[in-house]
Amino acid sequence: MRNKINNKLKILFKDIASVVDGEFHVYDPEMRVEAVSIDTRTPVLNNHTLFVAINGEHFNAHRFIQTAYEKGIRMFIVQETEQLNQLNDVNYIVVKNSVVALQQFARYYRSLFTIPVIGITGSNGKTIVKEWLYQLLQKHEKIAVSPRSFNSQIGVPLSIFQINEESTLAIFEAGISTVNEMQLLANIIQPTIGILTNIGHAHDAGFNSLQQKFDEKKLLFKNAAVVITSAELVEEYVTDESVVFFTWGGKAEANVYLKNVITGSDSTRLTIQFDEDTFDISIPFIDKASIENTMHCISLLLYLKYPPHEIQEKLLQLRSVPMRMTLKKLSNDALLIDDTYSADIGSLKIALDYLAGFDQTKIKTLVLSDFDQTGRTGQQWLKEVFDILNHYRFQRLIGIGKEWYLNRASLPVNHFENLQVFEEVSDAIRYLRNNIQPKELILLKGARNYSLERVVKSLEFQSHDTRIEVMIPHLIENVQYFKKHLMPGVKCMGMVKAFSYGTGAYEIAEVLVRQGIDYLTVAYLDEGVELRQKGIQLPIMVMNVEYHSFERLIEYNLEPVVYSLNIWSKLLSYLEENKIQEYPVHIELETGMNRLGLEQKEIEQLLPQLVHPAIKIQSVFSHLAGSEDPIHDNYTLEQFAKYQKIVGLISQVIEYRFLKHILNTNGILRHPSLQLDMVRLGIGMYGLAVTPVFRKDLKTVVSLITTIAQIKEVEAGTTISYGRKGKVNTKRTIATLRIGYADGYPRTLGNGVGKVWINGYFAPIIGTICMDMLMVDITEIPNVQEGDEAELWGENVSLEELSAISGTIPYEILTGISNRVKRVYITG
Ligand SMILES: *Cc1c(COP(=O)(O)O)cnc(C)c1O
Repeated sequence: MRNKINNKLKILFKDIASVVDGEFHVYDPEMRVEAVSIDTRTPVLNNHTLFVAINGEHFNAHRFIQTAYEKGIRMFIVQETEQLNQLNDVNYIVVKNSVVALQQFARYYRSLFTIPVIGITGSNGKTIVKEWLYQLLQKHEKIAVSPRSFNSQIGVPLSIFQINEESTLAIFEAGISTVNEMQLLANIIQPTIGILTNIGHAHDAGFNSLQQKFDEKKLLFKNAAVVITSAELVEEYVTDESVVFFTWGGKAEANVYLKNVITGSDSTRLTIQFDEDTFDISIPFIDKASIENTMHCISLLLYLKYPPHEIQEKLLQLRSVPMRMTLKKLSNDALLIDDTYSADIGSLKIALDYLAGFDQTKIKTLVLSDFDQTGRTGQQWLKEVFDILNHYRFQRLIGIGKEWYLNRASLPVNHFENLQVFEEVSDAIRYLRNNIQPKELILLKGARNYSLERVVKSLEFQSHDTRIEVMIPHLIENVQYFKKHLMPGVKCMGMVKAFSYGTGAYEIAEVLVRQGIDYLTVAYLDEGVELRQKGIQLPIMVMNVEYHSFERLIEYNLEPVVYSLNIWSKLLSYLEENKIQEYPVHIELETGMNRLGLEQKEIEQLLPQLVHPAIKIQSVFSHLAGSEDPIHDNYTLEQFAKYQKIVGLISQVIEYRFLKHILNTNGILRHPSLQLDMVRLGIGMYGLAVTPVFRKDLKTVVSLITTIAQIKEVEAGTTISYGRKGKVNTKRTIATLRIGYADGYPRTLGNGVGKVWINGYFAPIIGTICMDMLMVDITEIPNVQEGDEAELWGENVSLEELSAISGTIPYEILTGISNRVKRVYITG
């Protein structure tokens, strides 16, 4: 594992000519390429960075060529040249497809290295296994590793450039969603050792069978010397001998024979036989998936000839906390990016990039502890850190730990308006608690032994465990799924009313902005004001304006919906009085929902005044009453016909272009021919309430989680909760959860109607649900402890089913979760 490559890496712009198909425009052919970027927000850009402009579905990076140029970039791969025409000192390659060019370059780059490369694929666990291997091997190797879950057609090529002349090992993951994608990733990664984690049902839509999925995944390994996986998988799927496997499993035939598994309350003992040797290894996990992932890691280490005692030592240090950045609310409208899982220079860069993507008007702060400096002195380590920090803009820097403290006098402070150094975490906490600025954005990053969780816990605005978890990567996937359903050029409005369906107004809007959503909509003025105050600049439509609110409406540049003649005249007089010209408004038409909107006869009445200097009509829309149900399809078409007719009348007087829209979530999926100029996406972003055929294509975004306050054994005949309705006939174990109907969990789910998910099992609710608590029967569930988490709904308990049995719809439950329940955003 230690064969270092000696030749210093040197790639010149002209070298790319031999590997990328395209038309070359060379200014300085000797220019050196040291980094590749696809995003100008990545701050570490300079004249040795190659910028690849990707023309994505929701984002055209060509628009940022000028920005890239201003940041010093002089080398480009592009599909369009328009932006480059005025620049004369640049090198560029014009290609048909920038993604393909990026892949070609990555493939070439990879081929320059002879180090061992571990390629990981499988349906689940890829990222965990990769991160664990990194943790396990980082003391011994200089590892190039793909950032987080960079495993796709663009992420993999970008990961390849993490390898440099010092790397002794690389670990990459490869994810595919349909057939034929793996071949390409295999050519780029060229793994010498493979790991296949498992074959499950994730991404089933793209495959005919699990066998097909297995065969496709196996393509990653066609040139690997060995593939590590479970013996069970090999038995089930392997049909030929094209690949050499190194297996683990419960039978003696496996290379690594897992003889026995004993699960305790917070750890598991594995008895392993390998090469005539039998030994025990304890791991700090008890769930099945973690045991499986650990076995892949152990097998790899055994394959690499690490002695068992060393493996044991390393494994105990693994961290079970899922690696992910989470966004948490602090007091004063400040936000905390909690990234305390991994502490190394690579992940520091990723976290800083993420921070840089936020609105520049925010006060940004980095809190950074010492972390593992492997072989370097504290000074060297700090120098390396500052080399990176100096590329980023933030106002406050807080260093925590010995190295910071010892070197505090020699830090290059002048780069930051404010630098504080603390030797002890508790001092840093005390300082932070008293010094959080309004709307500050704090990135917290650091090493495990500093227990920075303590900082998170003591700063969080809401410390109560019960929370709504919003999985941002899933939200993004769903939004992109809907965008794929749109015809070219159709715009998408994000419905962020009611606190974005209960999930958090600003936090969701901010994601939608980054995803290239064109418009936002709220129900009431206050919701729009909040978004503006937090820095959202996209146009915002307000559906239900009130007469008394015009002043604030205009102050915050919010766009009202005119839904009645009354609102029209009141708004118009206000605009005239205040000499406001061409104010953007939207017209809602009544076509059959019978809620808000102007009917045809009212529009006819309005026509003579519709062209008015005070008003600029941005859009004319209507709302469908039954887009989700085929029973109402005729009604939907009638609504559409009415809409078209009235729009026709309006178009006769309004000469400028205005947007037309009528579809909500289920309309987008079920009536694609009615897309017009724009659609209004709401509940579908969360993967909820969509027509069942589409449900499987969407990810679960939101979960409601709580913790167990107390566990008690009760004797036969005992009754549980108010009214003594929950009677037990045998001895039972009961857990009390920290959630009740005041949190928005429906009381109708009490007395055995609803169930929750604990440690991989369902637990029925027993007795009546109280205001702040409820009880569940956990008798059948092993290893439950006070403090353990329970999912009320989310990945395992379907919110749709739960709504159905409690006689309502997901919209109501989602928006009805009380403010006492904090919202946590998982972003990594
Ligand atoms: C809420 C709302 C939507 C979004 O509906 P979903 O079913 O959540 O997609 C669209 N248009 C209007 C006018 C709405 O009020």
